[in-house]
Amino acid sequence: MKKTMISAVLLFCLLLQGCIRMGPQPNATGEGGDLPTVAPVKHYYLDMQYSYQTQVDPNLLTTGLHADYLLLANKEYPLGRDFVPASLTALTCTTYGGKTVELDARAAQALYLMLQEMAVAGVTDIAVTSGYRSYEYQVSLFNYYLSQEQKQISSNAIACFGSDYIQRNYYDKGVAMLSASDAKTVVLSYSAYPGTSEHQTGLCVDFMTSTMSELDATFATTQAFAWLSNNAYRFGFILRYPEGKEAITGYTYEPWHYRFVGREAATDIYFGNLTLEDYLGK
Ligand SMILES: [Zn+2]
Repeated sequence: MKKTMISAVLLFCLLLQGCIRMGPQPNATGEGGDLPTVAPVKHYYLDMQYSYQTQVDPNLLTTGLHADYLLLANKEYPLGRDFVPASLTALTCTTYGGKTVELDARAAQALYLMLQEMAVAGVTDIAVTSGYRSYEYQVSLFNYYLSQEQKQISSNAIACFGSDYIQRNYYDKGVAMLSASDAKTVVLSYSAYPGTSEHQTGLCVDFMTSTMSELDATFATTQAFAWLSNNAYRFGFILRYPEGKEAITGYTYEPWHYRFVGREAATDIYFGNLTLEDYLGK
């Protein structure tokens, strides 16, 4: 009887803890940004038993749902021109073509642990091809794409508008170049407008393998992707632009793009089948 009472009290306490700990509990604000909204998400991480093959310091993976690591940067919530992550570091892991890639120092630590565990699982064909990108970099990238799209009618343009539209507005009129406004629409379908790229947060990476020459959906067929799909959350990373969530994220499926949010949030997002937008209630 007494035991039942204790169990009941214990259960009540656990439930209470579960109720109170609904949604992110930020303990710092993002630079110039609002605190993440509390969303009614299930906290899978509270019951999670994390285990690793390699030496992993969990302190490097957990963020305590820190607002800095839940920073949202998308088309609806752009970052300012002046936003620069507080602690950028040059990655020491394998990068594509040996180029210099910078990342938030905390995200970098988690990335190294993830790659270490991946290697032990036999997955070594993986390289980081991009991390932090400045606002200015995104400006030049966007302008470059814009000039490219205006030179011709690309497959991107046809995919974006549909062949009927292209036929009516261009081919039928003998025009072989996109208008400036259509070119902008096309570029926006695959590239972020300055301030709206998550890469400006310094919290995300794009991966490639030796079988790839550019970032494309073939990454989804690699061993690395298969491993990441099952394990990235354990290191605080999420697949940021999943298939079927385009309407929420505003981006087409990007199997190569992983975002660090910390192990707690990543676990809840992964098991809850959420996007970062869902998680933050945005
Ligand atoms: Zn990316």
